[in-house]
Amino acid sequence: SAARDRYIKKTKTVCTYCGVGCSFDVWTDERHILKVEPGEGHANGISTCVKGKFGWDYVNSGERLTTPLIRDGERFREATWDEALDLIAWRFGEIRAQHGPDALAFVASSKSTNEEVFLVQKFARQVIGTNNVDNCSRYCQSPATKGLSQTVGIGGDSGTIRDIEHASLVITIGSNTAESHPVLATRIKRAQKQGRTRVIVFDLREHELARRADQFIRPKPGTDFVWISAVNKFILDHGLEDRPFLDARVTGLDEYRESVAAYTLEYAEQETGIPAATLEALARQIAAEEGVCVLWAMGVTQQCGGSDTSAAISNMLLLTGNYGRTGTGAYPLRGHNNVQGAGDMGAMPDQVSGYQKVTNPVVVDRHEREWGIRLRPDKGLDNTEMLDAALEGTLKSLWITGEEMSLTDSNANHLARGFEALEFLVVQDLYFTNTARYADVVLPAAASLEKEGTFTSTERRMQRLYQVMPPLKGTRPDWQIYMAVAQRLGVTWTYTHPGEIMAEIARLSPFFAGVTYERLEGYGSLCWPVAEDGTDTPLLYTERFHFPDGKAKLHPAEYRPRQQPPGGEFDLHLNSGRMLEHFHEGNMTFRVHGLAEKVPDAFVEVSPELAAERNIQSGQWVRLVSPHGAIRLQALVTARVSGNELYVPLNARKAENAVNFLTGSQGDAQTHTPAYKDTSVRMELLHDV
Ligand code: SF4
Repeated sequence: SAARDRYIKKTKTVCTYCGVGCSFDVWTDERHILKVEPGEGHANGISTCVKGKFGWDYVNSGERLTTPLIRDGERFREATWDEALDLIAWRFGEIRAQHGPDALAFVASSKSTNEEVFLVQKFARQVIGTNNVDNCSRYCQSPATKGLSQTVGIGGDSGTIRDIEHASLVITIGSNTAESHPVLATRIKRAQKQGRTRVIVFDLREHELARRADQFIRPKPGTDFVWISAVNKFILDHGLEDRPFLDARVTGLDEYRESVAAYTLEYAEQETGIPAATLEALARQIAAEEGVCVLWAMGVTQQCGGSDTSAAISNMLLLTGNYGRTGTGAYPLRGHNNVQGAGDMGAMPDQVSGYQKVTNPVVVDRHEREWGIRLRPDKGLDNTEMLDAALEGTLKSLWITGEEMSLTDSNANHLARGFEALEFLVVQDLYFTNTARYADVVLPAAASLEKEGTFTSTERRMQRLYQVMPPLKGTRPDWQIYMAVAQRLGVTWTYTHPGEIMAEIARLSPFFAGVTYERLEGYGSLCWPVAEDGTDTPLLYTERFHFPDGKAKLHPAEYRPRQQPPGGEFDLHLNSGRMLEHFHEGNMTFRVHGLAEKVPDAFVEVSPELAAERNIQSGQWVRLVSPHGAIRLQALVTARVSGNELYVPLNARKAENAVNFLTGSQGDAQTHTPAYKDTSVRMELLHDV
């Protein structure tokens, strides 16, 4: 009826799950979500995956936090917002006065908006005076950012999803694309079906895209760097490189050639298990293709040499002239909806928004004019270093927004000790998370459907989300919370709308110079860098690479093998990752009835041959034990994994069975990203469950 229609509202939003950046209209009746309808989204068109379509009930979960909590001995008591905010400001001020600004640190959320992430780093730098700020890309794609920054200059995807669809060859490495980035995988599958694109998948697991691929190659764990370097050497040794491209646009060839001298196909076969003939055919194919896109994810980056392998991939694309045209380029696939934005907005210990170094005098002056302070030139602590500093006693306080850090960082038992060592921990989230158990103050945050702002997808595409419903009573958007604490610490921010924060971001960051809310109106979007006149850059490097001389740099090869390969009592390799129905640790998707019912808990995938050898059947309970901890899960016997490979999804129903109780503290040498994929365990069959 007409009366009823008055209350039904259609609002455009951007998906809050993965980094593909699907956007759609949400139809609501008050807080009741009637349907999700894809409109004209750039990334998705008329598609969504199961999470984007059905994964929104978490916003109305009865488990939402609706009042601040303050620790009272072993328990928590409810508090007013004023009481909680006063306590935070008082404790921060006291710790800074006693121990200096570097005794405090801040973790921004890759699920917050760009504007909110920007304010976290502004809070750390302007209000507190420290560079101790980071975000969860430290756990995933920091190595890709590093490898690309070293070779082509910008740590983001070279083009858009539509550019990937124009490739004649798509190679995925260590990416379960169909489950982790479903709509993007659909685009690849469509191009493949139409005969436009061939697909080669490198992975340990025969996941959905691997099954559909034209070629599926299973290297030994942690050896991607070796086969890529061998392919690159073969290309150079046989004159298959794109000589005109290299001469005109790339430096460092002689040094690179020397650095790969040892990477013969025979050595690569021995190290990776991939036959030399397969690698030779691959090298010839890559060199002959019209356009090659390489997509990669955590299988590459969460290793001891994640940055080196990312640089090696970029080297391969440079040698074969696969940059700067549609259908070519490097695509590190971003996990969270706004993990690209979290890095872009300067939640990093050495860079402010737009990847500007805190040591650059121009950047320092510009910030001084805007913020009235000199940026500190020293690098702050990254996420990994924060917890180590807490254990050493130099870090006293941490403010974590929207990250289930206690379960998503590696070596969870070590983390727990770090959290316990802190004097004052603030956790801001939708629910009382496992990390909140360690907090002194817990603040109830608003969800993405309840606020305005922008997200940046894996394509570097910035899109607006509009308020679908007001914040649940008792909760507040992150940006208002940071403002309230800044105010109490004597720094008055006067933002009345996130659009004003974006205007400041544009003033401070050349990459975002032309980004305005008007230009992002509705389904409008911009791929950064965005010039002042609003011209954006969906495809990078068409004329120049992002270095002063405009040329790309081949990065010399350096191999860092695994530190904890299987051996002795820990005889099995453990891999971990996402699954379609759940997002990450599952804090949101376990609160969506349909998704939780479909996949109620994590499990461990066991290969048929290992199951036969150990007499294990699907459904039996096993205990996995590593040098760092132990968890209990049910076995699932499946040919997706082979031999002595195990696979565990990230989303355990019970926190104590989270896979990161097994992972260790070793990490990527350049970025400290934990080497989650470098884990060995033993498996014990449990008879008494
Ligand atoms: Fe959301 Fe990613 Fe699914 Fe798109 S593919 S609907 S962004 S989870």
